[in-house]
Amino acid sequence: MTSNFNRRQFFRQSLYSSVSFVSAAWWITGCSPSEKKKEYQLKSCQDLSEVSEVELAKRKQFAYETRASDPLKKCMDCKLFLPPRLDESCGGCSLFKGPVEAEGSCTYWAPLEA
Ligand code: SF4
Repeated sequence: MTSNFNRRQFFRQSLYSSVSFVSAAWWITGCSPSEKKKEYQLKSCQDLSEVSEVELAKRKQFAYETRASDPLKKCMDCKLFLPPRLDESCGGCSLFKGPVEAEGSCTYWAPLEA
């Protein structure tokens, strides 16, 4: 009877340990994406490390600049600008992939329609 009780205790403790381990793993993996999101938010809009060579060539072709030389032709006032998502700091452009500064500009600037 005593050994049966010990076995029961052992299984119960194993179950609790397993549940604790799974909960901890779920909590850790559940936190990771938000941590990555925070890391992404802190990244500069000028960080092009994840942009392909093809997309970099497009930027160059369109003479994209991170600060508009003409203050009346900023990306934020261009109809091709893709505003930042709610939890992001960099916008995008319909012409090429990668982060785009709201204060930037390029030769394809197109005014917002009124
Ligand atoms: S087309 Fe040029 S100006 Fe317009 S959002 Fe894209 S990069 Fe900015």
